[in-house]
Amino acid sequence: MLGVLGLAVLLVVVTDRFYGHSSLAFAAAIIMLLVANTPMLRFNCPACGQNAFFRGPFVVPWPSRTCTRCGHDLDLAPSQNR
Ligand SMILES: [Zn+2]
Repeated sequence: MLGVLGLAVLLVVVTDRFYGHSSLAFAAAIIMLLVANTPMLRFNCPACGQNAFFRGPFVVPWPSRTCTRCGHDLDLAPSQNR
């Protein structure tokens, strides 16, 4: 996540230097971040469908070990990312 964010910022800065108009690079950076976040949004609890990155109203950059809604152990569950 941090690597992608750094890459996105770098892309905007470099394009801004060379072309002086960064709105296109900015849009590309946003798309890159969305693509990087897609697997994260698919990591749901197999029992109830709660996203592992959501803890109540908060979004955390790492998945929780147990489901915050039903307490299902996500370590034992077959992940959709593997
Ligand atoms: Zn659950």
